[in-house]
Amino acid sequence: MSQNNIETDNNGETGDKFKKVKKLSFIEILIPVLTLMTIVNCIVILVLVVNIGKKVNGLEQRLLAIQSSDVDEPYQEVSAMTSTDINGNTVDATEAVDIAEAAAYENNHVWNGRDESSAGIKRVYFTFDDGPSANTDRILDILDQYGVKATFFVVGKEKYPEQYKRIVADGHTLGMHSYSHKYNEIYDSLDAYKHDLTQLHDFLYELTGVDCSIVRFPGGSSNTISKVDMWELIDYLDEEGMVYFDWNVSSGDAAGGYINASQIARNVLDNVSKYNNSVILFHDAAGKDSTVDALPAIIEAILESDDTVILPISEDTVRVQHLHK
Ligand SMILES: [Zn+2]
Repeated sequence: MSQNNIETDNNGETGDKFKKVKKLSFIEILIPVLTLMTIVNCIVILVLVVNIGKKVNGLEQRLLAIQSSDVDEPYQEVSAMTSTDINGNTVDATEAVDIAEAAAYENNHVWNGRDESSAGIKRVYFTFDDGPSANTDRILDILDQYGVKATFFVVGKEKYPEQYKRIVADGHTLGMHSYSHKYNEIYDSLDAYKHDLTQLHDFLYELTGVDCSIVRFPGGSSNTISKVDMWELIDYLDEEGMVYFDWNVSSGDAAGGYINASQIARNVLDNVSKYNNSVILFHDAAGKDSTVDALPAIIEAILESDDTVILPISEDTVRVQHLHK
């Protein structure tokens, strides 16, 4: 009897001990697992925070680079960065320079007025810089489809003879931008600018028979890169009977990174309504397909209003100029 009792007791005790051991081991496993998970979570959060910090820092640096107007050197850096467009196509030197130009300058210009009233009619001028390019024909097709005339401020590109001719044949204004579009060359001296513009003028004259007199300065008349006082260049144009035009509406299609067609359309349409005479800056460049894609919606929206006309720039056009007397 007594032995049995002892056995039972022993058994009972043994069972309790076993249960205690089981409970302990579960907690013992649970605590390290939870601790480990917490540590892993902390590390993941830390890595994320550090990465976000780095990205924000990088963006700030880029913003600062764009905002600083003393851009002889940063300009070179940006052009080196953007020698490949968003589709992975290699952009030639001129086009890479243009992207940098635009990102650094074009969106900084402040339009300061001189918007003469026009008897209740609003005039809109579409201008395309830096062409011809692989996109010129698509742009011309769309303009043709809507019966709209525009202005092309072209550069010197020997491989697109037919596009220069088609711009003229289709009734658009052929304007001069720069033959080389290399800031460090054309803005080095008055003579260098004269040489470049004359080269472009003669190239276009031989090709199309047009004696061009409408000019757009690379980076605009208010660019801060030129080593020559821009007024010297403006006086030279006056002497030659040439007229320069800047812009008061930027499509934003040249800003760094990809901008989709609907954003470009918004940039244009939100601003066109502000002026009696809107000169819109677009780019005719390889890889800028969203500019082309945005055109139909922009044209349709503008043509919908009865009091607005789309015109090519002529010498009689209200002088939309950043620098003017
Ligand atoms: Zn340009």
